Amino acid sequence: MKNITQKLSDSEYEKNFEELINPFSDNSAVIEATRCLYCFDSPCIKACPTHIDIPTFIKKISTGNIIGSAKTIYNSNWIALTCAKACPVDDLCEGACVFIEKGEKPIEIGRLQRYAVEYLLDKGTKNLFNTKLSNGKSVGIIGSGPAGLACGAELALLGYDVQIYESDEIPGGLNTWGIAPYKISRADSLKEIELIKNLGVSIQTSITVGKSISFDELINKHDSVFIGIGLGENANMIIPGDKLTGVFDAVDFIREVKKENWSSVDIGKRVAIIGAGNTAIDVATNAVRLGAEEVTVIYRRSIKEMPANDFEFELAKNDGIKFQFLSSPVELYGTSSVEGMRCVKMELGDVDKKGRRRSTPIPNSEFDVKVDMVVFALGQKFNSEFLQSIQDVKVVDGKIEVNPESFQTANQKVFAGGDCINGGKEVVNAAYDGKQAAHGINNYLSNLEI
Ligand code: SF4
Repeated sequence: MKNITQKLSDSEYEKNFEELINPFSDNSAVIEATRCLYCFDSPCIKACPTHIDIPTFIKKISTGNIIGSAKTIYNSNWIALTCAKACPVDDLCEGACVFIEKGEKPIEIGRLQRYAVEYLLDKGTKNLFNTKLSNGKSVGIIGSGPAGLACGAELALLGYDVQIYESDEIPGGLNTWGIAPYKISRADSLKEIELIKNLGVSIQTSITVGKSISFDELINKHDSVFIGIGLGENANMIIPGDKLTGVFDAVDFIREVKKENWSSVDIGKRVAIIGAGNTAIDVATNAVRLGAEEVTVIYRRSIKEMPANDFEFELAKNDGIKFQFLSSPVELYGTSSVEGMRCVKMELGDVDKKGRRRSTPIPNSEFDVKVDMVVFALGQKFNSEFLQSIQDVKVVDGKIEVNPESFQTANQKVFAGGDCINGGKEVVNAAYDGKQAAHGINNYLSNLEI
């Protein structure tokens, strides 16, 4: 890449990618846990998509029963470490804590969850949970991301033989590859997967359903199949110059960063990120940590419509990232590498069917931005290609259609959950879907038996 930023030293990279939030010490965890009011009608539980019994796990920390606390958490959420580190807690549990109404700092639920779960994971995860005796039935799970892992763990506990099929050589999907490393490392994700494997879940990697094995083979081999494949395909913006060297996609960029081989990641001096969701901010803050000198987020709507949450926005501003609202690129140019970007100013109009104000270009408002790296972070869309041959699995508006309670598709043997049914939400929503779907599968297979 041209104009590549001078590489940083190893110690600079280490410092830049240090974890954003420090863990609690034993003492500070107990002090924070003791602050909790253990509310009877706990709003924090309702605000957690997996409905973790928050006051109970916090109470157990305050009495020194840390393993018991972690077990309470895992009882509701099988990817509790990932969620403790990556959940937007301000919008979920901590945002609902009664201390906010009192004008005080909410209980640090995420950090306390992390404290308990890390304690358990560090002590070793064999024979921690009572799994039921094998019932002789097997379930195949496509994808080892949050939904697949949660579904597999819950089914293993219920006595099923669980086989997860993962196309990547390293399991974990979004948990392992999609979240900025200063929030959660790859090692953390894999540590939690070890716990799930210790429940008896088998994960076969480098196997792509639809290529290495057909869906029909899967459905004949197992009593039921769960699809937890996320979205997969990047939502593209096709403009002139989008194939120039120095133009990347957000998911691929974050994956490279997650390998933690910082000096090998391509980075420009002037980086523009197109889009303003949480992933776009992840790209921007990673770019700064890799040594980019000027990082700008370009967004077609205004700050009011920006999808990134407040925590991410503050993080970006603290990192010196610039925001260019109401602007959209129309062309990238350069000889072989990208050297500049022509943008147009946008204005907002009526509300569209998704409830967002439409943005339209203002005529003759073009302006140029000097860049040597552009990253598109416009979200992902569901690639439903391999589902087309599966009888009765319907895709509507880019999402697999399921019964919202059982997570069963119109094909009774097939269930689905996570981003592929909701179009892309938080990791914690996928964890909930996976667990609920496991019970949907269990009900279906138990009723068949009756
Ligand atoms: Fe504790 Fe806050 Fe939940 Fe009440 S709302 S139980 S104070 S964490």
